[in-house]
Amino acid sequence: MQTTKPHAALLASPGMGHFIPVLELGKRLVSEHGFNATVFVVTTDTSLSQSQLLKKSHPIPKLLDIVLLPPVDISTLINPTTGILAQLAIMMRQALPSLRQAISAMKFCPTALIVDIFGTEAFAISEELNMLKYVFITSTAWFLALTIHLPTLDAKVVEEEHVRNHEPLMIPGCSSVRFEDTFEPVLDRNNQMYIEYIRMGVQMPTADGILVNTWQDLEPKTLGALGDKRKLGWVAQAPVYAVGPLVRPVKPGSSSDVLGWLDMQPQQSVVYVSFGSGGTLSAKQTTELAWGLELSEQRFIWVVRPPVEDDAAAAIFKTGHRSDNTPDFLPDGFLTRNQKKGLVVPMWAPQTEILSHPSVGGFLSHCGWNSTLESIVNGLPMIAWPLYAEQGMNATMLTEDIGVAVRLKSTPPVVVSREEIETTIRQVMEDKGDAIRARAKTLKSSAEKALSKGGSSYNSLSYVANDCEIRLRYIKTKAEGA
Ligand code: UDP
Repeated sequence: MQTTKPHAALLASPGMGHFIPVLELGKRLVSEHGFNATVFVVTTDTSLSQSQLLKKSHPIPKLLDIVLLPPVDISTLINPTTGILAQLAIMMRQALPSLRQAISAMKFCPTALIVDIFGTEAFAISEELNMLKYVFITSTAWFLALTIHLPTLDAKVVEEEHVRNHEPLMIPGCSSVRFEDTFEPVLDRNNQMYIEYIRMGVQMPTADGILVNTWQDLEPKTLGALGDKRKLGWVAQAPVYAVGPLVRPVKPGSSSDVLGWLDMQPQQSVVYVSFGSGGTLSAKQTTELAWGLELSEQRFIWVVRPPVEDDAAAAIFKTGHRSDNTPDFLPDGFLTRNQKKGLVVPMWAPQTEILSHPSVGGFLSHCGWNSTLESIVNGLPMIAWPLYAEQGMNATMLTEDIGVAVRLKSTPPVVVSREEIETTIRQVMEDKGDAIRARAKTLKSSAEKALSKGGSSYNSLSYVANDCEIRLRYIKTKAEGA
């Protein structure tokens, strides 16, 4: 049975970096395109608390449901060497039976299933239940281009030219990817991360459409190549829709200690420091960052996490947790010395509210794509400190292509020194700040234009909505004729 409105089922994998943009896409389909929507979230114990946190802090439209699928236990399916990406892929696979059950139990079968990159195996469910199927890339079009191009590349070429000789990875019609920025799974063909990544790259083009959280004017060259049959279009197969930037809006009337502190600081004087929902630093790096901030003599807000050695993504399943503990791993006397200049927030901060505050003048970020978009829509210059996943590609794009960031020269696992941190923060907050801030402000207006009625991203999502409506009418006509 069907309703008169198209209904989108959206599937988000664990972690705030996926849940936030998927939820925003669902909200947009409801508020701008007349859909009903259900967001299914695959939960670990912590992602449960993450979504509760979000539900509390953000208005969810009436026609959108959030359904938490039962937590999946993958402990027997992984070993200590299983990377984060492979773990996420396994979690999503294990969650498929409960997703299928949940969709089958719905009063009306949804018109379309929209999954994030880790959910492409759920396409089998959309085929079985006669739903349209889409994948939503919560990253750049450039990352999408790499993902769909890699399966068609001769693996030996990748191994010999890129991995062994450190030559850039060429993508037709797009900027090539430098060895230093390579997405980790590309590096080892025998690793499960590689196998899962290639599988995703093969499954994505079988979708009815590929949605990307970017916009036409931000990545014109890559989006052009993805739509051009002589370049990447023959691999992409499915139409690519740039529908972004979809970012979490600021909650109206928000108040908190952090925002209260910001209210007392001068305009554009504070640098906000955060490594996303999952990023962690080693003990030595945490100490260097503390000293770098202090030496820069800038006001700051720093979201700190307990140090973890050799795992930059250690907090990915642990985020969304608030903690009121005073961190005891910072250099002796750091908190007392910086009492007036800085604020240290343990674990989790209201990021979108902070970034939109007029006292914030720069963002030291790991360049996760949501953080990047949140920075751009607030017209803020960035200090790029990529840690893992596709963050190196994002940092290159931000510095060399878009020109809204200055990148630290040292890259992990090299420990970035306090002197380098100090100098780079000063560059953005003092020296080069005005030029890149001006560029960031231009992008801010271009993003607003893309999302407004008649803008490129608005139109792209309208095409998707239109296809869903046609499918809905077809199914209804068929049912009436039966
Ligand atoms: N975030 C937040 N508070 C924090 C850290 C992160 O609200 O203290 C949010 C941030 O606004 C962003 C998301 O979590 O929307 C992180 O996504 P991103 O893609 O930047 O990085 P990831 O966590 O996926 O590495």
